Amino acid sequence: MKVTIDGQSIDVEPGTTILNAARQIGGESVPPAMCYYSKLKGSGGKCRCCLVEVSKGSDANPTPMPKLVASCCTGVMDGMEVKSITSERVKEARKSVTEFLLINHPLDCPICDQAGECDLQNLGYNHGKEATRYEEGRRTFDRINIGDKIQLHMNRCILCYRCTYVADQLTPERSHGIIGRGDHAEISTYIEKAVDNEMSGNMIDVCPVGALTDKTFRFKSRIWFLKPFDAHRECTKCCGKTTVWMFGNEIYRVSARKDENNEVETQADGSVGWICNDCRFESKDLNKWTIEGPRKMQKWSVINQNNYTAKLDKVDIEADSRLSLGRQEDRKAISMTNVKND
Ligand code: SF4
Repeated sequence: MKVTIDGQSIDVEPGTTILNAARQIGGESVPPAMCYYSKLKGSGGKCRCCLVEVSKGSDANPTPMPKLVASCCTGVMDGMEVKSITSERVKEARKSVTEFLLINHPLDCPICDQAGECDLQNLGYNHGKEATRYEEGRRTFDRINIGDKIQLHMNRCILCYRCTYVADQLTPERSHGIIGRGDHAEISTYIEKAVDNEMSGNMIDVCPVGALTDKTFRFKSRIWFLKPFDAHRECTKCCGKTTVWMFGNEIYRVSARKDENNEVETQADGSVGWICNDCRFESKDLNKWTIEGPRKMQKWSVINQNNYTAKLDKVDIEADSRLSLGRQEDRKAISMTNVKND
């Protein structure tokens, strides 16, 4: 089936969604997705971030779709034409959805462990409005320990449901879910019952914001101070292939390997590279791992803005004109004129 997104055409399998067709094209036309996660069955259709405009339904019926549609759960039709980043309606809708998601989400990026790899931070940076109209108080909750290694900070949760799909699909018995409706909805472990099965840590990797965090890593370091390396070990419970986040020779954090969509990578044999809690939480000793080499971070993100591997046309720093804006004493403080070079 042929589909055209922002003027770029691609042939895809019948049943492919518009979002996945856009991911095959790549670049700026890929709609953002906070709730859809290709490795989790049933995910998507909740956050409305991935809205697109269908300007031509198909070759058989070219009528445009009157409303914007969620690209993660709308299948392509042969000859369909879609506008993503080229549509003013879509850009305006994404701004509104971002504003809506931020109604209850605290703006605590400076102290949040997810900062630098947060999908909502990236969404706000790309599609957010500069100001908020929201004046009411935000929802607040006490922090909850989900088992001894995971902390739930419900204030930051955007109710994407991804972690409940992990609980459903990766763990033998589901012990947490969403209770309540509307603005009373919240993640609950049903009377704080610990999630103590060996794959539960994967909910940290799928959480798009900083609501579920690794207690063995919390507040240890900002993510951009660490160096990610691909590493593997013999493991009987999972694939044993991970990314270890190092500071010097010390492993600060272990996570699953993620692809350019910030989703856990598919391995060569077609299985998903979920990792067990032993690898994630209990294997911080460097001797337990074989380091393969630096992890290639492909995804565009806030911390990748100044990435030295990114190709820049030209870096222009107008130091002199900026200096003249400062106060006299500041100018003196940063002036290099009195520094001897010999
Ligand atoms: Fe989504 Fe995270 Fe909230 Fe779970 S805790 S619903 S993964 S935002």
